[in-house]
Amino acid sequence: MCMHSHARQKLFDSVLCTMFLCSSPGSGINSGNHDSHGNCCGRRRSTLALSQAVAAKHADGKEKFVVVLVIGGAGYIGSHAARALKSAGHEVIIFDNLSTGYEFLAAGFELVKGDVLDPAALARVLPRADAIMHFAAYAYVGESVTNPKKYFHNNVEGGLSLLNAALDAGVKRIIFSSSCAVYGEPAKVPIEENIPRQPVNPYGVSKLFFEQALEAYDRAYGFRFASLRYFNAAGADDSGEIGELHEPETHLIPLALRTAAGLGPELQVFGSDYPTPDGTCVRDYIHVNDLASAHLKALDHLAAGRDSFAVNVGTGTGASVQEVITAVEEATGKRVPRKMVPRRPGDPPILVANPAKAQGLLQWKATRGLRDVVRTAWNWMERRRETAAR
Ligand code: UDP
Repeated sequence: MCMHSHARQKLFDSVLCTMFLCSSPGSGINSGNHDSHGNCCGRRRSTLALSQAVAAKHADGKEKFVVVLVIGGAGYIGSHAARALKSAGHEVIIFDNLSTGYEFLAAGFELVKGDVLDPAALARVLPRADAIMHFAAYAYVGESVTNPKKYFHNNVEGGLSLLNAALDAGVKRIIFSSSCAVYGEPAKVPIEENIPRQPVNPYGVSKLFFEQALEAYDRAYGFRFASLRYFNAAGADDSGEIGELHEPETHLIPLALRTAAGLGPELQVFGSDYPTPDGTCVRDYIHVNDLASAHLKALDHLAAGRDSFAVNVGTGTGASVQEVITAVEEATGKRVPRKMVPRRPGDPPILVANPAKAQGLLQWKATRGLRDVVRTAWNWMERRRETAAR
């Protein structure tokens, strides 16, 4: 165990102390009483923050903040989570190698440029963190089939590098961007968390591997994790300042919007012979800010000293490709020229979450529907075009 591990152990002891011994009124850290415990005295603010969060939950409830290292915070979902964390009063450090992220998406935050495969870079920043949110992964299913090496290198080896650096630094709270891809082709929808995890592509395998690594590190080293199994992340922040930006773009909603705007070719509809009501694939599109709020709830849960968990993060309502196109036409007032083409390999017909577990465990549920998703994604695209035109 390195020095940091000892420091962390003391911190977690102090958390337990705060939870179980010092929770009488006025005994929070802010009152000064907690500092009177030998283990906690003289520690800098960031390492006290997790116990402050716990104190807040169990004592006066006034303040709750932790220092969160947002790995991949200059990317699409990470940048929305970073803003949500900041609005909730947490301190955010973004760590990103900018391979698929953008510096402007991290504007207003401390940005540490580094790679999860670089243990030295992680070791420099981790001691300042109380918890980690891990968004940094490649996420194209199709590419993972043609180039699994890239996926296993970054998502698996990079993930392990991060976990081991976190272990060395004693940072044992982690919220992981998992995926409904861990389920593969589920026999039953809406999908519940306890069905077998049988991914059908290397991307899903990489996500399942990391989930299982977290489970092992929990058992062996006392890591506490949240595996958030995203369904289809979509939409953008209402501000229009941040949103989805992939190169190349392969996702349905931005492609349909580009086509509506006359910026892209005819939209290809991958398969119209699926066993679904209109023959096109059905997905559960979850607004990115709802995803971000699920991360906040997960953080609160772990900061309160509660157990690790895995939950679906979806709306519980599916929309077919055809329904998405209709929503895009309604939001933009423009037609989406399209053509039916054969199925895309690896696409299950229907992926829809049963979100009941997240509702029960985290008191979280999606507040936005497909229309909000499409409207905010369109607003983001329009803003980008205006900025580019200036
Ligand atoms: N899709 C489509 N045309 C496109 C892109 C996607 O018909 O140009 C379909 C795709 O087959 C899937 C759904 O839209 O059924 C959502 O695909 P997306 O790539 O957005 O997300 P995924 O479900 O693969 O994560």
